[in-house]
Amino acid sequence: MNPADPDGVRLAARATVDLPALAACARTCTACPELAATRTQVVPGVVPAGSRLLLLGEAPGASEDVAGLPFVGRSGQLLDLLLAEVGVARAHVAVLNTVQCRPPGNRPPARAESATCRPWAERQLELAAPSVVVSLGLSATRWFLGPTSLSAVRGRLHDAGGYRVLPTFHPSAALRFGPGGEPRRLLREDLALAVVEGGR
Ligand code: SF4
Repeated sequence: MNPADPDGVRLAARATVDLPALAACARTCTACPELAATRTQVVPGVVPAGSRLLLLGEAPGASEDVAGLPFVGRSGQLLDLLLAEVGVARAHVAVLNTVQCRPPGNRPPARAESATCRPWAERQLELAAPSVVVSLGLSATRWFLGPTSLSAVRGRLHDAGGYRVLPTFHPSAALRFGPGGEPRRLLREDLALAVVEGGR
C-alpha cells in the first residue's frame, strides 16, 4: 500500500497491526506533496519494547531527516542527557513526532499536513500504549489538548484522548536559553515528574 492522500493514510494506519508494519507503510507515504518531494526519508517513531514513557515532538529536523530517526540532533542529545539525569536511559524511552516528515527549512508543519499525518501518529501511540506522554513544546501540546498556551498547562498531568499527558518545553527552547536557563531547568523537572508518574 502506498498512501497518497489523507484517506489512504487513515485506511493504512487503521490496517497496521504492529509498529514495524506501520513504519514500513508510512515510509512509502506521499500524502503531503511538498514534504514527500523535499524529505530525504520518512521518520516514524521509535518505540523500544517495554517502554512506558513516550516523548512527543512536532516534526523531524535536518538531522532526523538524514538519519531516519526522531530526536538525534542537538535537541535529542539534550534529551538523552536530561533523561539520564532523572534516571532513565534513552534506550528505554519511546520518541515520536506529530508529523513524520521534515518540513523544508524546518518551517512549522502546515495545518493540513498535521491533519493528514495525524492517523500515523495516533496509531503509533495506540500501539505503543505508553503510561505517560510528555508533549514537548506548544505544537505537540496543542496536538493533544487543543488551543492553549504552554504556561497554562505545563508541568501537570492532563487526561487527553485516553492518555496521561504532561506538557513541557521543547528541548530546542532549553538550548536557546542555555544551560542556566529556566526552560532547561523546567524540562528536567517535568521529565523527572513523568518518571515518578510511571513513565519508566
Ligand atoms: S508528513 Fe505524514 S502524511 Fe505527510 S507525507 Fe509524511 S508520512 Fe505521509
